[in-house]
Amino acid sequence: MLVTAGIAVAGTLWYVLWLARPGLAGPAALAFVVLPLGTAVAAHGVLVMIRHVRLHPVALRFWRLIFVALLLFGAGFAMMAVEAFRTAPALPTFPVDAAALAGAGFLTAMWAVARVPIGTGRGERGRQWLDRAIAFLGCGTVLFQFGLAPMINAPVGWSVQTITLIGLSLALALGGITKVAYIGDGPVDRVALRLIGTSGLVAAGVVLLAITGGPDSAVPAQGVVMPLAPIMAALAVRRQWSATGTRARRANTWLPYLALAGVDAPLLAALHGTLTWSDRLVVINVMVVTGLVAVRQFVTIRENGCLLRDKRASERQLRHQVTHDGLTGLANRGLFRDELAAALAAGDTTVLLVDLDDFKIVNDSLGHDVGDQLLIAVAGALRSAVGSAGLPVRLGGDEFAVMLTGDADAGAVADAVLSAFNGPMSAHDLLVRASIGIASAPAGTPLDHLLRDADVAMYAAKQRGKANWVRYHHGMEQPALAHARLGGELRRALEAGEFRVVYQPIIGLDDPARRVIGVEALVRWEHPVRGTVSPADFIPAAEATGLIVPLGRFVLREACRQTAAWLATYGPDALQKVGPNVSMRQLADPDFVADVRAVLAETGLPAERLVLEVTESAALRGPQVSRTLRELHDMGVRLALDDFGTGESSLSLLRAFPASIIKLDKSFVDGIELDELGTPAADARQAVARAVVQLAGALGLDTVAEGIENEEQARRLVALGYSLGQGYHLARPMSAERLGELFAARLAAA
Ligand code: C2E
Ligand code: CA
Ligand code: CA
Repeated sequence: MLVTAGIAVAGTLWYVLWLARPGLAGPAALAFVVLPLGTAVAAHGVLVMIRHVRLHPVALRFWRLIFVALLLFGAGFAMMAVEAFRTAPALPTFPVDAAALAGAGFLTAMWAVARVPIGTGRGERGRQWLDRAIAFLGCGTVLFQFGLAPMINAPVGWSVQTITLIGLSLALALGGITKVAYIGDGPVDRVALRLIGTSGLVAAGVVLLAITGGPDSAVPAQGVVMPLAPIMAALAVRRQWSATGTRARRANTWLPYLALAGVDAPLLAALHGTLTWSDRLVVINVMVVTGLVAVRQFVTIRENGCLLRDKRASERQLRHQVTHDGLTGLANRGLFRDELAAALAAGDTTVLLVDLDDFKIVNDSLGHDVGDQLLIAVAGALRSAVGSAGLPVRLGGDEFAVMLTGDADAGAVADAVLSAFNGPMSAHDLLVRASIGIASAPAGTPLDHLLRDADVAMYAAKQRGKANWVRYHHGMEQPALAHARLGGELRRALEAGEFRVVYQPIIGLDDPARRVIGVEALVRWEHPVRGTVSPADFIPAAEATGLIVPLGRFVLREACRQTAAWLATYGPDALQKVGPNVSMRQLADPDFVADVRAVLAETGLPAERLVLEVTESAALRGPQVSRTLRELHDMGVRLALDDFGTGESSLSLLRAFPASIIKLDKSFVDGIELDELGTPAADARQAVARAVVQLAGALGLDTVAEGIENEEQARRLVALGYSLGQGYHLARPMSAERLGELFAARLAAA
């Protein structure tokens, strides 16, 4: 670009010198060298650009044609320069073959511009052709009237070649300008295209010189005006080279108006002629009317422009609504999947799945408004913890995610998220914790694989005790998949009625007859293939999938129904209580109290005969659970603290929890008979067993020792103050029929 400009400047300086000191400037033929030199440099520029820039096929075709055009054009004028030196000092006429070459160059450039696609729709293209026709004819009229016509009619002879060439270049310029004015952003840079189109306008300058200066004007035309064309070509190359995807702008709309105003010029000139006053009036009227129509049109276009702007703004807003979560303003699942797909196509990508622990409890116990506020607070914490490192997303419910690209440190982000949750949240000072699963994948990995891995890792984090993060590693999904499969099977089994309830007696230890005081209800799965499956093998999966809620409801109903039947058959002294196990998920279920009430009403079992066995960890959870337990207590239903002593806060729990019964965990009974050996472990076990029974006595609670496997253990426990026991030594869990036989035998004996 600089070289073409330098050549043009040199040409101008030379011309000034030629005017001032013709002697020093040398032959006039030198003026004819400037244009071919500049053209050669511009052609070289095009070539270098084509080699260095990866162009769209359409752009490549365009620039190749421009290169050919410049070569032909340059060659034509180089021949003209040779002719100039041959005829010097007389100025040359344009040799026919040289003019043909230059003309071919013009035509090629025209062809190049013509082949760049414009417009999209059919209506759009039609409108553009109309506008272009207006502009072409309007401008053409002006140029003909003031340019070509005087040249053709000039008394001094202009060669046919020159006039043809000038006419051609004017046509190119007009065609080019009217076309490129409508081209939005496409493969060929818009400004580059305009520069190429407009470069033909230098012909207008040549015409102007010709009219004012006659054939002698060839010197400034060649030395000063025409070298501007290569500069424009070089500028165009530069534009295309650095063209980046600039945003699409609306195509030009003012050009037809300019043309309309332009044709008024010849009309104005005609007014000076020999017209009658009435003809003049008509001409003036025509000018005013076309002017007014133009103004009217222009106003409409402005209005359309405003409408279009409004429409775009509302489109943007709509797009935001569609791609973002309404509550938290975070990106939503749809946007997440789009962004993730794009990121995975480009390179390494990491996903963090963030799941709030026990959010459902907050929602159920404090209401949805509080839940919503908490989610908003969580979203804020997530946003600030992630910062610019990644994209935070709300997937729905209490599930969030973060997408990280490149080599972002996922562990650090996970730590930041966890510690952002490390404190009271929202106006209600709620404590939330989250489990995070992390998975990374290289470019090209299917999106769903990555999400599945992250989900597996998240599940592992939850299993590991919540409020932590786990990174996915190969093979991790095995246990989790087994869980999911088991969940599906449990659902089927529940519908197929494969569950039944067995009963393990709770025995009076200090009673020589070892009478049955109560029973614990335990669920069994009669699997069609695997036989009887232990609850230890499927209760965790049932809890994880939420199936424990309908399953527990079944056990509760069945236990109450069976106990009511026993009482009806064998009398009110057959047994005092029945104790089904109730899991944490059931207690958190808002319908649980109503379920219990309905079951009692349905089966006719008195509330005092029902003992719900709740583990310590379940009793500790949240306000909704506390309220549920209190309501049950107020109904007269008893609560037993199961597995007592294994948790962390057994003692403090006793104050808050409305328990009636404590079940000493089997681990304190195991080996209790071996204390004669005086090992510290045995001593400690015995100390706990004694402390528990004393504490329970002080609080007025009953105690049941679990897992008694021999008589010595039973004897020991009695010595410590236990009056109730449960264990294989006393009675194994058994079917309702077996137990019924036992009651019948006792009734007969009595
Ligand atoms: P758990 O509530 O502590 O129930 C006592 C478990 O200890 C029962 O195992 C019982 O068969 C077993 N057991 C009783 N005496 C002895 C003994 O002397 N020695 C030994 N080694 N074990 C003894 P089971 O029936 O396999 O139940 C295991 C756990 O599954 C239960 O522990 C309970 O937490 C859960 N579970 C059972 N049924 C249900 C249910 O319907 N709902 C819920 N949510 N959980 C249940
Ligand atoms: Ca139990
Ligand atoms: Ca237990």
